[in-house]
Amino acid sequence: MSSSNPVAWLRPFGAHLLDLLLPPNCLACDAPVDADGQFCLPCFRQANFISAPFCKQCGVPLPFGFGATGLCQLCSAEPPAFSQARAALRYDALSRRLILPFKYSDRTDAANGLALLMARAGAGLLAEAELLVPVPLHKSRLRQRRYNQAALLAAALGRIAKKPVLPDALIRNRATVALGPLGLAERRSELDGAITVRSTRLSGLAGKRILLIDDVMTSGSTANACAIALSAAGARRIDVLTAARVPDPRLD
Ligand SMILES: [Zn+2]
Ligand SMILES: [Zn+2]
Repeated sequence: MSSSNPVAWLRPFGAHLLDLLLPPNCLACDAPVDADGQFCLPCFRQANFISAPFCKQCGVPLPFGFGATGLCQLCSAEPPAFSQARAALRYDALSRRLILPFKYSDRTDAANGLALLMARAGAGLLAEAELLVPVPLHKSRLRQRRYNQAALLAAALGRIAKKPVLPDALIRNRATVALGPLGLAERRSELDGAITVRSTRLSGLAGKRILLIDDVMTSGSTANACAIALSAAGARRIDVLTAARVPDPRLD
């Protein structure tokens, strides 16, 4: 640090002053933490970060000793259209405390912290990606909510990893019903043709390795529908990165 450059000399004090004015909060509560994207100690102890073993394709957490293929039952039976999916956290009581306010209560400030967790969980996929694309919302839902939470995550990840983001590459053509209570076949037929590529974005997708971004992956049906559309548009490979993942209830 040179005393002949007052700006360089003052910069560390400026950063510290900003931290004092706006101390970063824990991702899941109001406790102060050292930096954005961190949990306080009690929340960290409750956080269920997804770690191996998980299905090498869809990323669903699996019990130990689940077989030599490294694949879950669903991916073995019918592989999804995406290559690999990864998520930072199991979708449980703690991650719901982060994600539900972000999704429904205008807590858009959580996007950066969630994106930092995702960047850690999906570091390899993010490094290899050429383009980030969020899972789209139907326009009626976008009007209600005023923002697409997946697009906010994609924008934050794009800043973190210095990758281009195409927020409007995909369109949701109709408001699909809640997929939660449906079986796999019903989910697929509900989503059939529901997600397509915007015609003006076709040329930007051809030949690209794309990382699809969403907040929560449940069965993977929505990500699969997006991957089918991107693949039909000529994308070379599609991977998926989400903040949280619903564990397969059959495997608990
Ligand atoms: Zn906390
Ligand atoms: Zn799988």
